[in-house]
Amino acid sequence: MKFDLHCHSTASDGKLSPQDVLACAASASLNLFALTDHDTLQGYHAVADGDYPFTFIPGIELSSVWSGVSIHVVGLDFDPVHPAITAAVTNLRHAREQRAYLLDKKLAAKGMPNTLAGALQFCPDLGQVGRPHFADFLVQQGYVSSANQAFDLWLGSGKIGDIKTEWPTMESCVEAIIAAGGVAVLAHPLRYKMTFSKLRRLIDVFKAAGGQAVEISCSQVNPDQRRQLCHYVKQLGLAGSGGADFHSPEWRWAQIGQVEPIPADITPVWALFQRTSCELI
Ligand code: AMP
Ligand code: MN
Ligand code: MN
Ligand code: MN
Repeated sequence: MKFDLHCHSTASDGKLSPQDVLACAASASLNLFALTDHDTLQGYHAVADGDYPFTFIPGIELSSVWSGVSIHVVGLDFDPVHPAITAAVTNLRHAREQRAYLLDKKLAAKGMPNTLAGALQFCPDLGQVGRPHFADFLVQQGYVSSANQAFDLWLGSGKIGDIKTEWPTMESCVEAIIAAGGVAVLAHPLRYKMTFSKLRRLIDVFKAAGGQAVEISCSQVNPDQRRQLCHYVKQLGLAGSGGADFHSPEWRWAQIGQVEPIPADITPVWALFQRTSCELI
């Protein structure tokens, strides 16, 4: 069973069009695939009617906040036109717009003016503009030497551009996905730079809110971290999911289909799908 259930296109902060992403998924000989753009279904709808050599399910990665940390919740196999999911997406569009204005002000106060207009050169959609587009503009202007440095100095965790106030709660994102008939998955748990005890609390709250799966097969996770994560997932009776979190062909460590299998003693997330039959996979 080859799968990749976490991936981005130009509909959010990826570098390839949704059509090109699906073509890459086809050449990776996958059986099951989801495009999970940040806070939008535009990419999904653009390619939903295609004919693919794999099972293609609706997906999204919702931005949220829990305990002062930006948390990403992946939704899979939901009804993509359900009012609960479309309302969540509309709300997040406004949140992104508001955050973009705040980010522009904060960077201007540090001597970097007009960054929102600049970011929009890289992403013409105000409702979808994100930190990576601001990073591209900071690189273009020579304020930083790379996108990574833009995150390290200005945009990443704990820096002035890490604005979380606009995001909905993690619990409300989980609820929206479930209301739309989908499975809510905690995205890349080791990317939040938490202690294991805080991570354990996060997973407990995520489960209490209705979350059913956790990404255990993610890029850039070492074997010890994976072991600990799998232990929590098993202990709590959660399912395992995963994906490369593809954004760009240039990120060699996160290419479509580069995903570890789900261990045999953990329920795979696709066993929980209500809309897509597992026999088809
Ligand atoms: P946003 O959705 O606007 O909050 O931006 C978050 C996105 O920024 C993530 O999904 C990543 O794609 C990207 N990102 C996070 N950290 C870094 C980094 N250090 N370097 C480059 N991109 C990053
Ligand atoms: Mn991203
Ligand atoms: Mn993410
Ligand atoms: Mn992602």
